[in-house]
Amino acid sequence: MSQRSEFQLIRQYFASMGADRADVLLGAGDDAALLDCGGPSALALCVDTLTAGIHFPGDTPPAAIGHKALAVNLSDLAAMGAKPTWALLALSLPEPNEAWLDGFRQGFQDLAKRHEVALVGGDTTRGALAASVTLAGLVAPDEALRRSGARLGDGIYVSGTLGDAAAGLHLLQKRQAAEHAEHELYLIERLHRPRPRVALGQALSGLASAAIDISDGLLADLGHILEASGVGATLDLRHLPLSHALLQCFGASQAEAYALSGGDDYELCFTVAADRAAALQRAVADLGIEIARVGTIEAELGLRLVGRDGQARVPQQTGYDHFGESP
Ligand code: ADP
Ligand code: MG
Repeated sequence: MSQRSEFQLIRQYFASMGADRADVLLGAGDDAALLDCGGPSALALCVDTLTAGIHFPGDTPPAAIGHKALAVNLSDLAAMGAKPTWALLALSLPEPNEAWLDGFRQGFQDLAKRHEVALVGGDTTRGALAASVTLAGLVAPDEALRRSGARLGDGIYVSGTLGDAAAGLHLLQKRQAAEHAEHELYLIERLHRPRPRVALGQALSGLASAAIDISDGLLADLGHILEASGVGATLDLRHLPLSHALLQCFGASQAEAYALSGGDDYELCFTVAADRAAALQRAVADLGIEIARVGTIEAELGLRLVGRDGQARVPQQTGYDHFGESP
């Protein structure tokens, strides 16, 4: 079989499977589906699976796996501007190890309580270690954040700092001598315990023109907004938010590469019309979350970069693709 990208597979086999239903406001293709259940809010629904050895190193602490299994889904609902409510947990375990289960439960529980999510069911089986969480939430359908709304002249923004988690994974895999131990622990913690931007997503609903969560690197995920919206963009890399820890451990050039193409950030990338920029600053002022304007939506399709030297550059790599060819 020839190599197929994850996204080609989804488009070809799954994007329009099943019956056509008028209550599906938004089907496959965004961070979550939006379903009309007859009330004022739409149900936002998503599922993400973490598999040992693919999404986390096999020796990841169980509490981090429990946290992350929920966090990646909270991040998808954040990208829709939805308020998370109910979860289902499907767990596949090689053996019923109680210490492992205690840890997993704690990690999941702490995050679920913080976001007022109830676990209402699931499935437990023996098999290779994997955790799949289905998460539901609520959002007013006309305020939901979609990938398709970016328009010419909109500012492109990201939350937090980018590239930390990919750098943390690199540190774990290389098991490098600890030159900057405190910074390295910070980067590994960013990998293990992403902080889904749920409050920011809700603050952006009705304000941002488009949004996505950054799970596969800024270039790839911004690319999904551009494709869905039928627009292009220029990113100014001088404005990429990079953590002190990332810069100290890896230097500016490698830090930039992680920020553009590394996975697992679980920050939000969103677009806002120029005349709403002041309203945006007011909306995020009280959240304690930094946002950075990193580019502008343009009519010309494709993505262009302005490098740290102020020179135009063509993007070299994109992000992570489960079935793509290795770089
Ligand atoms: P995300 O990174 O936001 O979790 P994905 O890249 O996993 O999103 O998926 C992209 C889109 O394709 C989503 O809308 C998702 O619901 C949909 N999708 C992925 N896999 C399948 C599948 N097997 N069947 C139907 N839809 C799918
Ligand atoms: Mg997503």
